[in-house]
Amino acid sequence: MAKGNEKMPGASLVREIHEKHFGGDPRVFLAPGRVNLIGEHTDYAGGFVMPAAIDFGTFASASARSDGRVEIWSQNFKEGVAFGADELPGTRRKRWPDYPLGVVWALREAGIEVPGFSMVLEGDVPLGAGLSSSASVEVAVAVALLSLAGAEMERTAIAKLCQKAENEYVGASCGIMDQFIACHGAEDHALLLDCRSLQYRLAPIPRHVSVVIANTMVKHSIAGGEYGIRRAEVEEGTAILRGHRGGIAQLRDATLEDLERWGGEMAENVMRRCRHIITENLRTVAAADALAAGDLKKLGDLMAAAHVSYRDDFEASCEEADIMVDAARCLPGLIGARLTGGGFGGCTVNLVEEEAAERFVKQLGEEYRAATGIEAEIYRCHASAGAHSVENGG
Ligand code: ADP
Ligand code: MG
Repeated sequence: MAKGNEKMPGASLVREIHEKHFGGDPRVFLAPGRVNLIGEHTDYAGGFVMPAAIDFGTFASASARSDGRVEIWSQNFKEGVAFGADELPGTRRKRWPDYPLGVVWALREAGIEVPGFSMVLEGDVPLGAGLSSSASVEVAVAVALLSLAGAEMERTAIAKLCQKAENEYVGASCGIMDQFIACHGAEDHALLLDCRSLQYRLAPIPRHVSVVIANTMVKHSIAGGEYGIRRAEVEEGTAILRGHRGGIAQLRDATLEDLERWGGEMAENVMRRCRHIITENLRTVAAADALAAGDLKKLGDLMAAAHVSYRDDFEASCEEADIMVDAARCLPGLIGARLTGGGFGGCTVNLVEEEAAERFVKQLGEEYRAATGIEAEIYRCHASAGAHSVENGG
């Protein structure tokens, strides 16, 4: 069934839960989930991605404790954890507390004295659906604890710290995109990020555009293995190009002319993987330019081309995702649609005219069900702000 926008639980509810569990007068922060509009598998090639923060997010409330203890309640899991001042687990336990505790660990590694605290986590980002609930938790926890510790940290440094928590403590390999957009997102904007330099620029998404995220509800089991294979293929192709032109440190440095000259020396599939990444980088920068120019038609064309490239050259789509994208293409109000995320299932992202969005969601769900027998979850969002304090009600 299509799922419309669920109102966020609100800071006042989180404050209430905090007071009930712990007493005290908490500070409350909110960090968003995200969706990548364009730029797939470009991150590890040093290239470009263009995510937007969404209006699904995670609240973290925090109040200081005088006994040095750390107590965290997850409203989503209806479960709490508590540790004495010196008994924080040094390693992961493969459960939700790893995420907040990983951030405590990373803050301490960075030399920040995190005092004892009580915390409530509550979010409406669907878990494991590809909207990065994990980064929203990490960043919400980080800004809450930095505030409690009275420490200042630049937003990019916060993003890197949270990525480190996820990589080294939680033990999940992820790039910088999710934490970066949770920190730097801006209302009614997408963010073009250079994954190598971490320079970025915002690109406006008009208010009349809805971001519709459609979960195919499938994740093919080949996804994990294929990811590693793609990375190896990309590395193989990059090495061949680098052999001819030393300036190609990463595939992001290569041009289509390079590929035309030397792609024949690659296995055919390797050449196509490289072609996807080289053209995807061009499309992603062009998509930011199209948004800046208010050219939504161009943006839609770029998203369509990105899907075709992801499907045919990178071979990272699947039947269900193709059905979802093809169904969207025929519906009124569509600006652009493509498979987003690591591939082989997961979500499609659709930019849709706001006035048509409600019907779009309903029809997309129906067509997908008719074709696959699967009930998709479909979320209507808007591009939203990065992590912020919701001290006064929010
Ligand atoms: P995704 O980031 O795509 O949603 P992940 O597997 O990376 O999926 O992260 C999901 C995990 O993050 C959850 O299983 C849980 O451990 C943690 N998490 C997310 N949101 C919350 C929350 N509100 N409270 C506690 N833990 C959460
Ligand atoms: Mg995640």
